[in-house]
Amino acid sequence: MTALANVSTTSAGCWIDGHWGRFGSARLLSIATSHGWVPEPADDEVVGRLIAELDGVEADEDDWESLSEQGGLADQAEVWLNAYAAPEGYLFGWHDGEFFLWPEHVWHADDPGVCDCTREQRDLAWRFL
Ligand SMILES: [Zn+2]
Repeated sequence: MTALANVSTTSAGCWIDGHWGRFGSARLLSIATSHGWVPEPADDEVVGRLIAELDGVEADEDDWESLSEQGGLADQAEVWLNAYAAPEGYLFGWHDGEFFLWPEHVWHADDPGVCDCTREQRDLAWRFL
């Protein structure tokens, strides 16, 4: 579980770009497991099938549903990455169909009242594209 401790701030930027399309969230599972995320035992096989989809092995619609539903596997992987992998002061998240690691205040750009960060801190996204 500690393999992920070495994600550093120099890894900030785009982790999953838009060309992944609907496979982007399956890619997220692959990234999370390669960094040490262990799905609930009941989800183990589904996660395996969805990751195999990246190699062209077709998963079924139920699998895709459990991936993308609210609180589903993609959300769980993201929460785990933020809890155990993101460097201090940085967060992973989706923006316009792509998955980024950004300084946490960049995520406040659309919600400036959420903390007392400055506009300058919120406007740094371009540095990580
Ligand atoms: Zn902020």
